[in-house]
Amino acid sequence: MSRSAHPAGPRHADVLPEGHYSAPPADLNHLDPHVWSRTVTRNDDGAVEVGGIDVRDLAAEQGTPAYVLDEADFRARCRAWRAAFGKDADVFYAGKAFLSRAVVRWLHEEGLDLDVCSGTELAVALDAGMPADRIAMHGNNKTPAEIDRAVAAGVGRIVLDSFQEIVRVAAAAERHGRRQRVQIRVTVGVEAHTHEFIATAHEDQKFGIPLAGGQAAEAVRRVLKLESLELVGIHSHIGSQIFDMSGFEVAARRVVGLLGEIRDEHGVQLPEIDLGGGLGIAYTSADDPAEPHQIAKSLTEIVTRECEAAGLDLPRLSVEPGRAIVGPTAFTLYEVGTVKPLEGLRTYVSVDGGMSDNIRTALYDAEYSVALVSRRSDAEPMLSRVVGKHCESGDIVVRDAFLPADLAPGDLIAVPATGAYCRSMASNYNHALRPPVVAVADGQARVIVRRETEEDLLRLDVG
Ligand SMILES: *Cc1c(COP(=O)(O)O)cnc(C)c1O
Repeated sequence: MSRSAHPAGPRHADVLPEGHYSAPPADLNHLDPHVWSRTVTRNDDGAVEVGGIDVRDLAAEQGTPAYVLDEADFRARCRAWRAAFGKDADVFYAGKAFLSRAVVRWLHEEGLDLDVCSGTELAVALDAGMPADRIAMHGNNKTPAEIDRAVAAGVGRIVLDSFQEIVRVAAAAERHGRRQRVQIRVTVGVEAHTHEFIATAHEDQKFGIPLAGGQAAEAVRRVLKLESLELVGIHSHIGSQIFDMSGFEVAARRVVGLLGEIRDEHGVQLPEIDLGGGLGIAYTSADDPAEPHQIAKSLTEIVTRECEAAGLDLPRLSVEPGRAIVGPTAFTLYEVGTVKPLEGLRTYVSVDGGMSDNIRTALYDAEYSVALVSRRSDAEPMLSRVVGKHCESGDIVVRDAFLPADLAPGDLIAVPATGAYCRSMASNYNHALRPPVVAVADGQARVIVRRETEEDLLRLDVG
C-alpha cells in the first residue's frame, strides 16, 4: 500500500487475507449475503431482485448508473444497533456516510440520533423533522455561521474540536441566551486500520485536541470556566473500516483516564463518553465484520472495566456508526459499455459511471465485489477490472474481480456495499450527472434523491 491512512479508511496491503481474490469464486452467480443487502436474491429468470424488484426493471425505469438502496435492510440495521446498545446508550448515525430526507425520517422512526458535520447536513436533518436535541454537530472547522445555526436550532451537542472553537461556541451560546451542551473531541493516539491498530503517544492528524501534552486537560479547564457551555462528555473517534476491537480498548482506557483526571482536578464526573464510529463492513467475501450485539457487548465491557478500575461511575455511552448502517444496504447498478480483453493481463470492463459515483477505489485503494445481475451465466470466470468512463486511468471501480467470460455490452452489473461514502462523495467530474438514489421496498421503487440533469449543471454555470 503506497497511500497513507485516511479517516474514511483504506485497508493495509500487508494485512490482506491470504489468497484474497487470487482464485475465482466457485460460482459466479452466487451473491454472498455478507456483501449484498438483505432482500437481494436471484429470481427464476437468473436476474437479481432487490426489495421484490427485478434490476432490469429498475434500470429500464430509473436509468443507470443508479444507487439502489434496500429500505428494509437499512431499517433492520438501525433496529439491530438500537437494540444492541439498549436504553442506557445512544446510537448516532453518522450522516456524512449518506444523508437524505428519507434517511433522516427512517432514522427518527427507528429511534436513532444523528451526527452532522456541516451546516447543510444540519439543514437536511432539520428539514426532515429530526428534533434538534437528537442531533450532534461535528467538524474540525465549523464556520461561525454553522456554529450560530446549530446553537440557534438547539442541537443536543456540539463536539468541540479546537481551542478557538471553545470560544466561538461559547460566544454563540451567549448571544442566543443558551447553555450549549458540548463534548470535547480528543485524540487518544490510536491509529486504527482494518485488521490492526497502533497505539502511539501522539497523533499526526487534524481532528480533535490531543490528550498528549495535557492539551485536552487544558481544554476541559477552559470549557468548565465558561457559563454558556455545559461540558457533558469526552469524544473519541479512532478511524474507519475497523474490525479489530483492541483499538477501541486503548481509546476507552485513555478517555476514562481523562475522566479520572477531571474528577480529581475539578471534583466533577462527566456523564458521557462517545467512542465514535468506524466499524467495518464486508466489501468482499474475505471481510468478516462483527454483529452490532457483539460490538455493543465488547464496547460496554471495555468501558465498564476501565471505569471500575478508575473508580468512576459508568458514564452514558454513545457510538456513531455510519458505514456499518448504510454501507451494506445499497449497490450501484451499472450498464456495461465496452469489454476490452488485454492479452495476458485482464479484461477491462467499462461502465457508464466511475470515479464520479465511487471515488473510494481511486482515493484509498478500497476493494469491492461485482456481479453480473441482469442474467445468470455459466461461462468461465474472466479476470476483470471494472473501470468508469472518466478521462483518468485511475478511474477504477473494482480493481480485481471475476466476471463471466461471456459478459457483453448491455449487460447490467452491480457493485455491492456502496451505501456509504459513494453518493455522499460523488462529484461532477467530466460534468457527470450524479446518479439517483432509489429506495426499494415491498415491490415499490421510490427515488429519494433524483438524478442530476443537464439543467441542474447549467443553472450553476452563470456565464
Ligand atoms: C466519519 C465519522 C463517523 C462514522 O464513521 P463510519 O466509519 O462511517 O462508521 C463517526 N464519528 C465521527 C466523528 C466521524 O468523523
